[in-house]
Amino acid sequence: MLRDSRRSLGSNASPAVRLELDAIEAALNRVDAGSYGLCVACGRDIGPERLAFLPATPHCLGCAAEIAHARGSRPPWSWATC
Ligand SMILES: [Zn+2]
Repeated sequence: MLRDSRRSLGSNASPAVRLELDAIEAALNRVDAGSYGLCVACGRDIGPERLAFLPATPHCLGCAAEIAHARGSRPPWSWATC
């Protein structure tokens, strides 16, 4: 179902949608591998609150903040407060 979403959307999907699909597919692969919910960078628990907010995120809050900082962008959880 979800795994077929890329095919059914084909090449009409916008880059943002394709990025989201990539993230979801990667998350599904981590479910299969038994590593879903663990940060791919540091291996720590991502945490149920963060997963509820961002189910496909591969990074814990700390690593996501580091990555966002390295990219020079604000982390997504700051959007609501700014
Ligand atoms: Zn981490």
